[in-house]
Amino acid sequence: MSEEKSLNFIEEIVEADLSAGKYTTVVTRFPPEPNGYLHIGHAKSICLNFGLAKKYGGSTNLRFDDTNPVTEDTEYVESIKDDVRWLGFEWANELYASDYFDRLYAFAHKLIDKGLAYVDDSASDEIAEQKGTPTSPGRRNRYADRTAEENRQLFAEMREGKYPDGSKVLRARIDMASSNMLMRDPILYRIKHAHHHRTGDAWCIYPMYDFAHGQSDSIENITHSICTLEFIPHRELYDWCISNLEIFPSHQYEFARLNMTYTIMSKRKLLQLVNEGHVSGWDDPRMSTISGMRRRGYPAEAIRDFCDRIGVAKRENLIDVGLLEFCVREQLNKLALRRMVVFDPLKLVLTNYPEGEEYVTTDNNPEDPAAGERQVPFSRELYIEREDFMENPPKKYFRLAPGQMVRLKSAYIIRCDEVIRDADGHITELHCSYLPESRSGADTSGIQVKGTLHWVSVRHAITAELRLYDRLFKVEDVANAEGEFTDHLNPDSLQVIEKVYAEPALLQDDAAARFQFLRKGYFHVDKDSNPGNLVFNRTVTLKDTWAKEVKKG
Ligand code: ATP
Ligand code: MG
Repeated sequence: MSEEKSLNFIEEIVEADLSAGKYTTVVTRFPPEPNGYLHIGHAKSICLNFGLAKKYGGSTNLRFDDTNPVTEDTEYVESIKDDVRWLGFEWANELYASDYFDRLYAFAHKLIDKGLAYVDDSASDEIAEQKGTPTSPGRRNRYADRTAEENRQLFAEMREGKYPDGSKVLRARIDMASSNMLMRDPILYRIKHAHHHRTGDAWCIYPMYDFAHGQSDSIENITHSICTLEFIPHRELYDWCISNLEIFPSHQYEFARLNMTYTIMSKRKLLQLVNEGHVSGWDDPRMSTISGMRRRGYPAEAIRDFCDRIGVAKRENLIDVGLLEFCVREQLNKLALRRMVVFDPLKLVLTNYPEGEEYVTTDNNPEDPAAGERQVPFSRELYIEREDFMENPPKKYFRLAPGQMVRLKSAYIIRCDEVIRDADGHITELHCSYLPESRSGADTSGIQVKGTLHWVSVRHAITAELRLYDRLFKVEDVANAEGEFTDHLNPDSLQVIEKVYAEPALLQDDAAARFQFLRKGYFHVDKDSNPGNLVFNRTVTLKDTWAKEVKKG
């Protein structure tokens, strides 16, 4: 099917480059800064970069863009590797921009020698002021006239640690009147006496993004360097550096970043949610992080499918999170083992059922015969959902009501004979009778009922805790909503049901399995779960209840 799909604009570029012989192979990279956990927006970039290389028989590097010592950490490096692998991709090389510090330093010297870079002693506000404005040109200061020799020496002294933070920078000498503000003698290096998570204290000068990214691409022979639209103004500088350094001609291409409703996609803001305790951590199942989605039970395949469906756009838009949930349901419907779990129990006694028990057979997944069948214990005392019984039902109510019949899933047809109450009038149990000849698979009763209920045997039931999640934010476009983004947090995004009653199969099930609790939703074992206290996350509801709410207004 993918064969027939039309090419996205980046694939068109790649195919044109290959057929023109511009490159013989495609090399891409995914370049995260290790300053936080990856989110669904990064998943889009991963699928795009790895997907392109795969499609055209090339390769993809995982490059940590770790040129900013202050915010970066090895915890993030490890989480990023886990997430990329979990998404189903393999990188050709694990690389670090910090490994190129020596070469970048040499590149800077090359520019100095060509008279294309100089050391500037001005304070940062002076530099900003001298830059001019988009409508008026900037002006050079006297430091721009330093000789190459002087610049070489000063730059070497910067590297040796002779100067304090902020006292000097290395700037490219380009064009103070350029209509592109980034070309007005941009800063290439700054002094920062800071410990780096990989290079330790070896360096006290660090390259700026614009002097690190393109050169790193070039060092790795990256053919197509794909980034998001906000980097369009950087492209000119990217090309300027590569061309003046006379190194491998990598090229930058931009696509629209993924934005999604009810979601934030900024590591800085996600970190704020973690630090301020709005969520339990980076992998809180409500987070838009890959680790949160994994913990919640989203299959990697669903995320890849989502990234594929949204395509590659040239203009920013806001994707409905409902599409991601749709992809998750599509996968889970195929994968999930069906289990019966009663959330809010109402006891039911089958007064004509003998003591003891029997086992009824039911399929694990009607969508997948290979998933097989299981035996579920059935006995005289059962739990059904309290909401599946109504004492005074309206017409066309097909669930249980006094005198009315329903089928218990994969077992028998029952009829409600009597409602039992406590002293306060609350319903405590239902007395029912079952039709022995109505057993599923061997039904000779001739009776048709419209309602089928899930149930568990009281004596055999195991208990579990459920965590039900709703959207973390109340507004669609969180990034553009008024005020602080944290003002829009949904206070009801987590609901815990401390004790539900489940069929015993769940105790034996593989922790990696996906479940559909019949009529209730898709669930996945949480990492807090243990045999003495099972904990499940609701991955997604069976249907899109939110869409209905919106329509109702
Ligand atoms: P954030 O603002 O969330 O920190 P970032 O762009 O600073 O994101 P990086 O670690 O620099 O994060 O990003 C690694 C790669 O992922 C970059 O190529 C970036 O363009 C891409 N990327 C980041 N966010 C998105 C997004 N929302 N949609 C698509 N690609 C993205
Ligand atoms: Mg960044």
